[in-house]
Amino acid sequence: MPTCSFCSKKIKSGTGKLFVQNSGRTFWFCSNKCEKNLLKLKRKPIKFKWTQEKKTKEKKEGSS
Ligand SMILES: [Zn+2]
Repeated sequence: MPTCSFCSKKIKSGTGKLFVQNSGRTFWFCSNKCEKNLLKLKRKPIKFKWTQEKKTKEKKEGSS
């Protein structure tokens, strides 16, 4: 099961979107929102509360 390249959410098969860059790098997106943020706005997932990546980081920092 692929996960969203931006928010790290799991993407159910049949949903989401696969984006392939010219360089051959592939990205999965769960929604247009994630696609726009990463590709057009070039935002880092870490800055956004709604992404899984940030939650994971906070958890790690809090426990250590
Ligand atoms: Zn997403």
